[in-house]
Amino acid sequence: FPLPHVVSIPPYPPGRPIDAVAREFGLDPAAVVKLASNENPLGCSPKAAEALRVAVAETHLYPDFDCHALRHAIAAHVGVAADHVLPGAGSSEIILLAARAWLDAARAAVIPQYAFQSYEGAIRSVGAEPIVVPVRDWKPDLDAMLAAATDKRVHLVYLATPNNPTGTIIPRDELERFAEALPAHVLLVLDEAYREFLPDDEQVDIARLFARRRNLLVMRTFSKVYGLAALRVGYGIGDPELLALLRRLQLPFSVSAPAQAAAVAALGDTAFVDTARRENETERTRMAAAFDAMGIETIASAGNFVLARTGDGAANARALMQKGVIVRPVANYGLPDWLRVSVGLPHENDLFFEKLREVRSEMP
Ligand code: PMP
Repeated sequence: FPLPHVVSIPPYPPGRPIDAVAREFGLDPAAVVKLASNENPLGCSPKAAEALRVAVAETHLYPDFDCHALRHAIAAHVGVAADHVLPGAGSSEIILLAARAWLDAARAAVIPQYAFQSYEGAIRSVGAEPIVVPVRDWKPDLDAMLAAATDKRVHLVYLATPNNPTGTIIPRDELERFAEALPAHVLLVLDEAYREFLPDDEQVDIARLFARRRNLLVMRTFSKVYGLAALRVGYGIGDPELLALLRRLQLPFSVSAPAQAAAVAALGDTAFVDTARRENETERTRMAAAFDAMGIETIASAGNFVLARTGDGAANARALMQKGVIVRPVANYGLPDWLRVSVGLPHENDLFFEKLREVRSEMP
């Protein structure tokens, strides 16, 4: 008999791979476009690709258990000491580690409505209770989250800025006030998976944030702007004692050697990141305008995706898939009328809008 809390975990619905969709609908994989997983349409830095090629020669060796070079490269990038950095198998691993270290069946965690689905899965995976606080005007209601955190069972809060799937951000001063007001025993896990897509002056100043609160874990990833999603590498930034605890729970060698090498190289290629940020912003603006021109409501997004109210998301996603465009329905977030569309290359975005127009004209 399975444990009831395991049965309660909502299954994660990933964006479907191009090959699977091409097979199902009899399409040429080369003609299928995937705008469903907030990946980097430019690929990754050529420097990271080269590091990966070199690393493959040592496939027979275990990775560096300490991720020495990667921790130091991240530390220099972030502006912290290397013992404040814990690499993981994507930020997904850090999300789980935080839940396993801080929660159990007697505890609860606060998350906002429309939060990244893995938070609820992580909370439930250890038998804890997710307390979901309704958003206000699409944004996390930080006052209501503070009130919810006064429940003595609450020991953890997950919060993302920018948020997936809405793309909304939490202004820096509001976030700092929230961090300061949250009870000291509550771990604040701040998810910055999409941080790099924000303008510099809107990125959270984490040194200031840590000055206000020590019981804080910031998560970032190489899956998005760095274009290394296949390698599964992300990291947590936090107090060394907290990270040492998380590390005890980590699978040994969870970050592969090619992932470590490519991530180090990716951090060294700021020109690639700058280009990706710039092109994302240009295309995201163009997509928002195209939705607007079709009379489709969108939420102002700070990420590399746009949430759009197309009506019946599941039916639209299926019809688009048959035409070779993979996007993400978000009914699992309680948004059955919306689609989340990742920002692709200009011709990919054009194809999406062409197919969306077709689908809308064909629908009853
Ligand atoms: N946080 C958020 C908000 C995300 O959208 C994602 C990926 N979709 C992740 C974390 C996990 O990313 P990864 O495990 O690839 O680092």
